[in-house]
Amino acid sequence: MIDEFEQEREAMVIHQIERRGITSPRVLAAMLSVPRHRFVPPEMIRYAYDDNPLPIGSGQTISQPYIVALMTQVLALDGDETVLEIGTGSGYQAAVLGSLAREVHTMERHADLAEHAQDVLVELGFRNVFVHVGDGTLGWFDASPYQGIIITAAAPKPPPPLLDQLAEGGRMVIPVGAWGSQMLQLLQKEKSELTTIDVLPVAFVPLRGEHGWKEDNW
Ligand code: SAH
Repeated sequence: MIDEFEQEREAMVIHQIERRGITSPRVLAAMLSVPRHRFVPPEMIRYAYDDNPLPIGSGQTISQPYIVALMTQVLALDGDETVLEIGTGSGYQAAVLGSLAREVHTMERHADLAEHAQDVLVELGFRNVFVHVGDGTLGWFDASPYQGIIITAAAPKPPPPLLDQLAEGGRMVIPVGAWGSQMLQLLQKEKSELTTIDVLPVAFVPLRGEHGWKEDNW
C-alpha cells in the first residue's frame, strides 16, 4: 500500500520492530503494509508511527507497534488459520492479522469502537475480517475452533470459553494479571493439554466482562 506515510512506516519497522528482534518476514511485511495512521483519531495521525500506544477514544488505546508485531509473531500464522481477537479497539491489530490469516473474527464491547473499526477495515479492503459487538470473554462460538486466539486486554486468567474454542494444536496469546504486574503469555493446546510460556511483561487496559475483571476492581 503506497501512501504519504510509507517512509515513516518503514522507519517504524526497522527501528522499533526488527531492531527489537522480530524476525518473521511475514509479520514484518504485514507491519510495513498496514496503514496504521488510518486507525488513529485525526488529531493523533502525526503520532501514528511513534513507539508507543495512543488513545483512540472510549478510554481505550491502540497498542504500541512493537507489541502488535510481537503478539502476531507469537501466533506463528501461516495463512490458513481462522483467528479470534478479543478487543478490536481501533481495528489495527485485526488488520495485521487479516493480512496473515484466512479469516479473522474480532470482538469489541464498545459498539462505537467496533463500528468505526469495521468501517476502516472495509475502506481498506479487508474482506476477511469480521467485527462483532459483545463480551469477548465468552468467545465467538459460531466460527470456532480457532487455530489462533489473541486477547488485547489484560485478563485475570485465560477465560475458559476461549480455551474451549481453541483448536487442537492452536495458540493463544494473552496478557494476564492486574495493572503493574501483567505478563504476556503464550498458551498452546496439544492433545487437550495446555502449556504456558511467559513472553514479556506488558501494560494493557483491563479485559472486562463475564470472565474478565468486574467493573470495580481497577
Ligand atoms: N487491538 C486493539 C487495541 C485494543 S485495546 C487495536 O489494535 O487497536 C483493548 C480493547 O479491548 C478495548 O477497546 C476494550 O474496549 C476492549 N475490551 C475489553 N474487555 C472486552 C471484552 N470483554 N470483550 C470485548 N472487548 C473488550
